[in-house]
Amino acid sequence: MTTRDSATGAAYALRDILPEETTTKDGRLVIGGRDVAELAAEYGTPVQIFDEVGMRRGIRRLIDGLAERWPNSEVLFASKSLPLVAMYALAASEGLSIDVAGEGELRLALAAGVDPARIHLHGNAKSDAEISLAVDSGVGTVIVDGPDDIRRLDRFVPEGRVQDVLIRVIPGVDAATHATMQTGGHDSKFGLLPEQAHALIEELRDHPRIHVEGVHLHIGSQILDETQFADAVRQLRQFEGLETYDVGGGLGVAYTLDDVPPTVDAYLDAIVEAAREVLPEGAKLLIEPGRSVVARAGVTAYRVSTVKETSKRFVAIDGGLADLVDIGYMDLRVSTLVAERADEEPDTTVQLVGRQCESGDVFMDDGRLHSPAIGDTVVAAATGAYSYTMTNNYNGALRPAVLFVANGVVRVAARRETYDEYLALHAPALGVDWSAAPERA
Ligand code: PLP
Repeated sequence: MTTRDSATGAAYALRDILPEETTTKDGRLVIGGRDVAELAAEYGTPVQIFDEVGMRRGIRRLIDGLAERWPNSEVLFASKSLPLVAMYALAASEGLSIDVAGEGELRLALAAGVDPARIHLHGNAKSDAEISLAVDSGVGTVIVDGPDDIRRLDRFVPEGRVQDVLIRVIPGVDAATHATMQTGGHDSKFGLLPEQAHALIEELRDHPRIHVEGVHLHIGSQILDETQFADAVRQLRQFEGLETYDVGGGLGVAYTLDDVPPTVDAYLDAIVEAAREVLPEGAKLLIEPGRSVVARAGVTAYRVSTVKETSKRFVAIDGGLADLVDIGYMDLRVSTLVAERADEEPDTTVQLVGRQCESGDVFMDDGRLHSPAIGDTVVAAATGAYSYTMTNNYNGALRPAVLFVANGVVRVAARRETYDEYLALHAPALGVDWSAAPERA
């Protein structure tokens, strides 16, 4: 049963933003068949909870939707949006290939058992270590950001092996999104200008160990206007006759009722219509969604710590910038509800804030909740993307646990960090006399 069928009040109002497998029971919020407030009590807060069934359904909509429109296609999961061993394994089991940006993500993907041939390595500042690990472990495709990547590949790809690469090009499209999420403008740090990409393709034409399959572009993230994806694809008309065209990720999602993202169908229609205009008929078309795969499926549960009245009614919860950086970094605002009274209409206007020492630590400005009180479980919807990956220890916060729930069964994807782990990094400093700077050696 979904929210649409059963819920009223806040849960009903947020039905298109909460996970697909959300319902209410006795007025309480239930995701994947589990009572969210009970999970929060059992696993501690903050805790991230993912609706596995809804997420798998969403993945199939993307894969099948693209394949119906462009049969020679592949969907990669942009794993920076949720780098968890569980997520890599889940994504691969649904038929997604994997995009990693850096050695850590590559190691997680390999640990999850992802077929290396289906991994694509990104990065605008790849190190020797990353390229050599990628080559040694048989990573299928390296996305080349510039000539230094080629020099490194030249060193590390052994004789007798051929490494497939895509050349990242700057499409010159300024996506209408937060400046930090724009990646395709003329001045982008990612990729090469089209004329440089052409020259590199030409240079590599007869390379014995580096094979240019095609080109890649990515215009940014949280893009709500599908015509911008089509504009970017049309830039590829400059690159005729290649085997593969990867047009990146970027599909936006709704964080509040004010956000109206394109449907998956509208997004795919826009891309494929433009692809039909400019790409060779049998070419392979790749997309790399991240946010749109995981954002809606994930919620974060917090506990109300304090309620106080000054010029506003401040409700403070036990998370913040440490587990949801984007509220400060991107000015993100989210939709929340009280899990214990999810069926109630919100009755109180609040400034919902976190516990980190910054004024930008705000979840909702003048948002509405139902009578929030100390001890209540406040659930932030659509927080599945780019939250766990950017968790940090600001003010000594511990990285939260991550739970995948499906059909009433909970599986722990990541356990909560402990203070021992937090302190362990400082072990070399313990027992050292810090009372003065050392004498010259
Ligand atoms: N591909 C590349 C190269 C990216 O840098 C990103 C993230 O910005 C993505 C794909 C995924 O974007 P999104 O999560 O917005 O779909």
